[in-house]
Parts: sequence; C-alpha cells; structure tokens
Amino acid sequence: MLVNMTQILKDAEAGGYAIGCINTPNLETIRGVLAAAEEVNVPIIIDHAQVHDENGIKVEVIGPLMVEYAKKAKVPVCVHVDHGSDFSFIIRCLRAGFSSVMYDLSALPYEQNLSKVKEFTEYAHKAGISVEAELGIMTLAMGEGWTHETIKTTFTDPQQAADFAERSGVDALAVCFGTAHGIYAEPPVLDIQRVRDIRAAMPDTTRVVMHGGSGVDEKQVQEAITAGVSKLNYYSYLGMAATENMAKMLSGEGRQRQWHENQEAQVDFIKEYAKHVLTVFKNGK
Ligand SMILES: [Zn+2]
Repeated sequence: MLVNMTQILKDAEAGGYAIGCINTPNLETIRGVLAAAEEVNVPIIIDHAQVHDENGIKVEVIGPLMVEYAKKAKVPVCVHVDHGSDFSFIIRCLRAGFSSVMYDLSALPYEQNLSKVKEFTEYAHKAGISVEAELGIMTLAMGEGWTHETIKTTFTDPQQAADFAERSGVDALAVCFGTAHGIYAEPPVLDIQRVRDIRAAMPDTTRVVMHGGSGVDEKQVQEAITAGVSKLNYYSYLGMAATENMAKMLSGEGRQRQWHENQEAQVDFIKEYAKHVLTVFKNGK
C-alpha cells in the first residue's frame, strides 16, 4: 500500500521504533528491500536520491517501478525523494507518483531554507505529500577533513530545530548529531543527549530523522531510536555489501550461468541483509 510518511512515523515514535528509509536505485534493491519489510512486517520508506539520478538511473525509469511495487506491497510503503535540492528534480519525482519529499536546502542560510521549505510544505500538504527538511550540515565521512571535535560545529541546535519545525510545518526534520554520509573513515560517536533535547524541543507534529545510519554500530542506533529518532536513512553499507557478495559469487563455484539467475541471488542477499537492518530498527518492539 502506497502511503506518505506522516502516519507511519507518528506510529513509530509512539511505539519506540524507527522506520527504515533505504535508497532503491535498481530493481534488485526495490524487490529485496520490500520483501524484507514484508517478512519483518514493518512499514518502510524507499527513496530515490537526486545524486543517484544524476549519476545513474533516472526517476522516469525507476520511479514508476518504486510506486507500483509500493502499491502492491503487503505493508505500508512511502515513496520518497532523498536530498532533493533542485525543484525540477522534485517535480519530476512527483510526476512519477512519489508520496513524499525531502526538500534539502540545508546549504542555504537559515531563513532562506526556512521560507522556501515553508512555502513548499503548504502546497505539498494540500496534495497529501509529506515533507522532510534538513537543518545543520551533514558532512562526508569522518576522517575526511573532520575529527570527532570539529564535526561538533555542524551539530543541530535544539532550539533552532524547534523554531524551524514550528514555522515550516514539516513532517520530519533531518538533524546532525554525529552521523555522516557514505563510508565512515572512523567509527562515529553520536551525541544521544542532543537527540533527546531536539525531540523535547520540537513540536510533536515533526519527527526526528537520522541520516548516515549505515556504518553506525547497532547499540548507538538503538540508543538514538530510544532517544527520539523515528526515521532512519540507510544505504551505503548495504550497497557495499551487495557488491562484495556479487564479487564473491561471481568468482566462486556458486556462480550461475545466466545473468538473471545471478541477479535473483542478489535480490535474496539484499533481502536477508535488509531484514537484519529492519529488525535492529524495530528496537526490540
Ligand atoms: Zn542523507
């Protein structure tokens, strides 16, 4: 069933678990991730990143597949734009039938980010589209010019998060407290108290989002969920694991003769990997 993310995130926060949000830039990942969500029996968000559209498959090709698979799934599925900063990209995703948008203007000065997101959210809500924004700057992986000390300068201020959420009306806000995108050069250390402070300060109509979830140890992931994270973005380590699996498979005796048979094996691998991730996000519930 295709849904936006408003109700599934509200239910997640009330239940003390988090909804996984996983990039699905090809058919094998769509099928593996949705089969995992059905087996673990949790709602899921699948998303298409602007950067994947620029460097890979276009939303006009992958978007309708995401939407069709979402409609047929046995669990609620939100089809979401990931880090859309170009308005034209967001419009292309909405034309493909997406139910939710991350409008990421975090590179702009605070008031500009706020006013543009606020205007967009008013229109989006009238059309039943949920909206996520970002506050703070999510760096690339630690170690690439960042240390555990200097990354703290990018952390989201709880009072500013509250102001942004109240004035913009967004359904979800991605905040910075120690995670980064991509592959971690050093193990991340999360500021869990900051998550609690952000959750307590924000209106209860806006959920807390953690990006860079892959590569964080499971203990800290679950502490962040208990502290108030309801949406957890995860991709890089899944993509990397699938590559390693394919390399192992193609070099071994388990290799199939036909390409599509190897692809089917990848769907199974992604499903099993995602089942583990989604079980961690259930946080014991
Ligand atoms: Zn992100």
